[in-house]
Amino acid sequence: MHPVISVSRLSKTYASGHVALKAIDLEIRRGEIFALLGPNGAGKTTLISIICGLVNPTEGSVRADGHDIVRDYRAARAKIGLVPQELTADAFETVWATVSFSRGLFGRGPNPAYIEKILRDLSLWDKRDSKLMTLSGGMKRRVLIAKALSHEPQILFLDEPTAGVDVELRRDMWNVVRALRDSGVTIILTTHYLEEAEEMADRIGVISRGELILVEEKTALMRRLGKKVLTVQLP
Ligand code: ATP
Repeated sequence: MHPVISVSRLSKTYASGHVALKAIDLEIRRGEIFALLGPNGAGKTTLISIICGLVNPTEGSVRADGHDIVRDYRAARAKIGLVPQELTADAFETVWATVSFSRGLFGRGPNPAYIEKILRDLSLWDKRDSKLMTLSGGMKRRVLIAKALSHEPQILFLDEPTAGVDVELRRDMWNVVRALRDSGVTIILTTHYLEEAEEMADRIGVISRGELILVEEKTALMRRLGKKVLTVQLP
């Protein structure tokens, strides 16, 4: 099947001279959950920032649903939603306004029925008139996802969606992400946590010092490494 994201010979050297990515090739399949696993500084955020068009590559190319992210930015970007690590929005804004405004940034006309659907799907409907600063950490993470979905993307990137959250909230986020995949959205997430990749992913990519050192079906990887290595039981 035609890959939904196609990354070819992608390299990034920052102005500082730091080589963050080295000749990455990667294809993401439509409808899968792909986990990009790697330690601090491995290049995960750099890779997804380039795929989403926030940062230009030094070499190589990215296509999102057939559109080149640099040359055909608007068409490619329309296909992609990005959930960053932190909520960047006005603390005094309401949930409804935040998500509706985000849709407008993509030049899409208002669609209150769609906004209502995503807020209901994410259990945010009862909080639609709440100001962001009054929400719990878990609810703020849900708002981040709702914002990223506001323009109806087919592909969702989540940058370390459960970094620094407690076990209960982590499980909650996993369920939210699975439900999104079941609704037809392709998911790419970055994580430090082996157990998160094991729990969530169909395929796992391991990135280390800017190199994609392994891409494999999770089940095949688990068979090869042995269940013990990948399973870390949560309480
Ligand atoms: P983390 O898990 O800590 O978020 P990461 O795997 O996402 O790490 P990146 O944030 O992509 O890693 O960083 C990869 C390397 O590139 C790091 O050594 C980082 O210091 C460096 N780097 C990132 N952004 C820049 C920048 N704007 N200028 C120079 N170097 C950078």
